[in-house]
Amino acid sequence: MVYIDLHVHTTVSDGTLTPREVVRYAKEKGLKAIAITDHDSTEGNKEALDEGAAIGLRVLPGMEISVKCPYGAMHLLGYCIEINNGYLRENLDLLSKARQQRNSKILDKLKDIGMALEYHDILKIAGGQQIGRLHFAGALMKRGYAGTRKEAFERFLKKGGPAYVDRFRFNPKEAIGLVLKSNGFPVLAHPCTLTGLDTEELDGFMGELVGLGLKGIEAYYPDHTDEQILCFEKLAEKYGILATGGSDYHGDNKPEIDMGAYRGDTRLPFSVIDTIREFNYK
Ligand code: AMP
Ligand code: ZN
Ligand code: FE
Ligand code: FE
Repeated sequence: MVYIDLHVHTTVSDGTLTPREVVRYAKEKGLKAIAITDHDSTEGNKEALDEGAAIGLRVLPGMEISVKCPYGAMHLLGYCIEINNGYLRENLDLLSKARQQRNSKILDKLKDIGMALEYHDILKIAGGQQIGRLHFAGALMKRGYAGTRKEAFERFLKKGGPAYVDRFRFNPKEAIGLVLKSNGFPVLAHPCTLTGLDTEELDGFMGELVGLGLKGIEAYYPDHTDEQILCFEKLAEKYGILATGGSDYHGDNKPEIDMGAYRGDTRLPFSVIDTIREFNYK
């Protein structure tokens, strides 16, 4: 077993290390491979791939998109997507525009409830291209409106919170279709954030997703309990899909999560990457 991490954010979305720095950090930590999975963007992949080639670390291109779903939060990872695919770029542009519109509405809501925040505060914290709620949380913390980012989510930004604004998302069929049409490998991210489903219903929903072309499930994830891991491993086996894992590393924006950490001593075998790439080049 060697050490890989298939869920890593950079400054392109809401991580704090640049794509180059993320690759160097992975190498320092002794990892053999990482996947770049920024929200709604593939912009960081080229720099990471180039750096990986230069220093000898395997980098899988990827992205993470939020999906419209009645069961809590559903995120989809797309691995080995063609980063310059025109269809993919068009659709990611759409998501970016929806995100920008949502962001200005979040700011309006925060101002309405008395928070002295301006757009440049958020821009300064974001630094990169894609602005997300984690940056709003950082800005709220900096202004003293919350002690931690988590608290900022709890008090203001979480779904149902006073500054929550929904945004356009693809439904599961569209999201999985987008990854497949970009010749990528679609994986359900952190299934623990799917809520309101009992074991049987989760099984049924997984069956639906696999029917739409889902190829993997992120079984190994820092928030998963041992029971959840077992349950997701069983689902992977039942549906003949790949059990993958990642830390959801965000650098200092989520300081409690280090790269390469899923749970306990779990280590993903490098063969997971071979399976993804085999599919990709078939
Ligand atoms: P967005 O895509 O802009 O809606 O932001 C979603 C991101 O916010 C997630 O991927 C996490 O990085 C972060 N996030 C969501 N909920 C929480 C929470 N309760 N605590 C900390 N970060 C969160
Ligand atoms: Zn994030
Ligand atoms: Fe996610
Ligand atoms: Fe993520």
